[in-house]
Amino acid sequence: MLLMGIGYAVSCSNCRFSQHFTVGVGMMYSSLDQVINLLHYTRRPKVLEILKNHDVHETDYEHRIFECPNCEKLRGAFWAKIVYDNDQTYETEFICRDCNKRMEPVLEPKQLRGNRCPICGERRLNVTEDMLWD
Ligand SMILES: [Zn+2]
Ligand SMILES: [Zn+2]
Repeated sequence: MLLMGIGYAVSCSNCRFSQHFTVGVGMMYSSLDQVINLLHYTRRPKVLEILKNHDVHETDYEHRIFECPNCEKLRGAFWAKIVYDNDQTYETEFICRDCNKRMEPVLEPKQLRGNRCPICGERRLNVTEDMLWD
């Protein structure tokens, strides 16, 4: 069995809101170019261009949960960061569809516990965690 990541279920104890996220990287994600399809298609040409034509020092990538600092909407996305050439950095950014604010990564999903529910607005979110195996 291969570990595929960690699953988080975020739900509200006051209404029916429920959203599932996968966080982390699967064990077969051995390099960024192998998982390029997980990036949004509009980002792929730029990322491939950097990987191919530049002096890449470091790549980092994983599935993350992002949160809007304004409306607290949540979104799961595949995040990637590349450090290349003379300390240049490429990093995927995610913008809230509702308020156009830059969303921030939730690095400790358990901290969402007690956050405001994006549907009913009550601070009643619960988080449960489980390991995802292939
Ligand atoms: Zn927002
Ligand atoms: Zn709710």
